[in-house]
Parts: sequence; structure tokens; C-alpha cells
Amino acid sequence: MKAVRFHEHGGPEVLRYEDAPDPETRPGHVVVRVAACALNHLDLWQRKGMDRVILPMPHISGADVSGTVADVGEGVTDLTPGQRVMLQPGLSCGRCAMCLSARDHQCPRYDVLGYRSEGGYAEAVAVPAANVIPIPDHIDFVSAAAFPLTFLTAWHMLFAGGRLTSADTVLVVAAGSGVGQAAIQIAKATHARVLATARGEEKCSRARALGADDVVDSTCEDVPKRVRALTGGRGVNVVIEHVGAATWDQSVRCLALGGRWVTCGATTGFDVALDLRHLFARQLTLAGSYMGAKAELLQAAEGFFRGLFAPVVDSTFPLQEAADAQRRLEAADRFGKIVLVVD
Ligand SMILES: [Zn+2]
Repeated sequence: MKAVRFHEHGGPEVLRYEDAPDPETRPGHVVVRVAACALNHLDLWQRKGMDRVILPMPHISGADVSGTVADVGEGVTDLTPGQRVMLQPGLSCGRCAMCLSARDHQCPRYDVLGYRSEGGYAEAVAVPAANVIPIPDHIDFVSAAAFPLTFLTAWHMLFAGGRLTSADTVLVVAAGSGVGQAAIQIAKATHARVLATARGEEKCSRARALGADDVVDSTCEDVPKRVRALTGGRGVNVVIEHVGAATWDQSVRCLALGGRWVTCGATTGFDVALDLRHLFARQLTLAGSYMGAKAELLQAAEGFFRGLFAPVVDSTFPLQEAADAQRRLEAADRFGKIVLVVD
């Protein structure tokens, strides 16, 4: 098969469109012919290389996949070739206490598709049958690929970390990011009040169109001051964040008494300072979040299939142009997901 692989870490130029071995159909597994594969920031970290992480080389990234079942392994009885599917990006053992209590993202053997395994920047990919989610006919492949990772991440952040209810006000930082656009839609469907930040007027109006009740333009407004003004001086109950050092101070200052700050990343830097007096006196909760449970993605998918929410797609690229697609992921004017399409 053809795949986009890298043989050493580096810039987008290390990505090569080339021949790679076909995936094997092992017992309990399914081979999926890839129709579309969405990009995530994880792909960039894999390509650049991470401290203390050794990836198998040559490496095929890609956690968010849709396509059709090409072959089923021994013991797989409920899936058939030709079926349209999307994939759960989380791989876990399926037998430990975490896996059996809907916390499979905390499995000691947890992995993300395309991290230590071969992912979806390819014509085909093999996954355990437990990772296959059939999709209805009205869901197109590009949307299906753009859905799993960011909606799972946002769902877990809002409900497990943020304990969001319809009585809450949530602030979604960086509305145009993959997680941001998903969090706005899910929070709105929960009937929470949704505030968001975005950079520039165009992104602000797109965030409003997605369901944000009020949007703060972080290029020209004082975010905590505006959030206080919009909430009668109280602040928000939940902050959903992944920007890191650049927004840490303002995000903490936006929280109400008893507020929950939830993060899944730190794209602008990892080192921040915390005044512990704010933590105990204002009774704040800081929660780290990484992916989410398979069960949560199935819950989120119900809303996707019913049309309650839909991933925003910024642009699509042919598989061969994966390097340009990764460059686009870091562009300042991006809004939503970037998806590779396989012929
Ligand atoms: Zn496990």
C-alpha cells in the first residue's frame, strides 16, 4: 500500500509518500481501507520528536480515521467487508480494572492510534474490532474522520474534568482549535452558557455561529475583565483550555468560586506559576485531561449521528500532500479540523 511515513524526526519535509507493507489481518482485528484521516497536534509532536519517547521507525501517524472495512480477522463476527466506519483512536488492553470501569484511557497499556502503532496516513490500517464504530449513510467520510479525537477529548474535559451542567457557564479558550469547536458545540447542546475566546473578528463570528453565547476577541480585549463583565462579576464555572503558558494567568482569573480549570495541552509552553492562595481560598480545581473513554466517544457519536453537532472542517488535502496539511495545522487563520483524503 501507499502511506505517508517519516524515517527520522524533523520538519514537515521528513514526511514521505511511499510504499509500505500492507497491514495484517490478525485474529480479533479489522483492516480498514482509509477514506479520510484527520490531523491532530499529536502528529506534529510525533514528527518533531518528544523527550523520552521512542517511536517505531519508519512511522505512520494518524489517530482519526474513517473508511470501509476491507477484511475481518478470526473471531470478528459483527463486522463485514464494505461496512462504512470510523475508528476509536484509543487502544487499550480491554482486561484491566481501568478498561473494565470505563476508564480505558487510564489503562497502563493505553496508546493512541498512530503513536506507537501504525496510524491512518495510509491506504489501510489495522485495529482491534473494539475500535470500530459503524457510521450511518448520511455521515460523510471527511466529517467522520474529523470527529473522534477532538469530540472525545472535549466531551471528557467538559463532563469528567469540568463536571459541566446546564446551570454552568463555561469559557472555551481558542474557539478555532479542534477541541475548541467541539467543546462549544457539546456545551451548547448541554444548555450551559458558553463563552469563548478567539483571535480576530472572523474567528469570533464563526464561534458565535457554532453556538457561543458571547465571544471575547483576545487580540484586542482584556479577557478576564470582559468575562467578569459578562458574568455579573462572578466569573465562569469551567474553563476549557489547551493553550498553556500564554493563557494560563487569564484563564485562572476568569474562574468563579469553586471553578474548574481543565487542560489537555500546552501549545505555547509548559511552565506556569500558581499562587496557592487562589487555589484554596477560591476553592478551585485544576484537572489534567488526556483523551477519554471509549464509552464517552460512543455517547458523543450519538449526538453526531443525530445532527446535534458536526465537526468543523478547515480544509482537506490529498494524502500525498500531508506535509502541506501539517503546515496548515500551525497556521494562525486555521478554524477547525484539517483532513487528509485518500483516493
Ligand atoms: Zn487495560
